[in-house]
Amino acid sequence: MAEQKDWRQQLCDRYPFLRHGGFPSVGDGWRSILERMCADLAEEIKASNVAEYRIVQIKEKFGGLRAYYSYDGEKVERLREIVRTAENDSLVTCEACGKPGEVRLPKAEPYWYKCCCMKHYLKWPDNYY
Ligand SMILES: [Zn+2]
Repeated sequence: MAEQKDWRQQLCDRYPFLRHGGFPSVGDGWRSILERMCADLAEEIKASNVAEYRIVQIKEKFGGLRAYYSYDGEKVERLREIVRTAENDSLVTCEACGKPGEVRLPKAEPYWYKCCCMKHYLKWPDNYY
């Protein structure tokens, strides 16, 4: 079966600012959040001419999306706001499927927070994705 390229790799191919460690290590449910974040960042980067902006890590922490970046120029506020919006959206979006969710602790070990819809909460932690 000819598998389509993973959306995470597609994002990295499309957005050079992800190619410094920014490969998204998160579930499929956050795909649209990250696609929007990257599109908004790309637009702002282009408009403000801040070629040195880099996302250095994208991961899940305490149930939420985290995107760490390296940039400290004058456009930092606007760029930070775009990242913060994505991080906030992730807190109400199931990381597994993208449906509305909330950050919850699982019923059993490991006691790691995950943002899940009810269906995936019931599967977590055994069979989340
Ligand atoms: Zn779900």
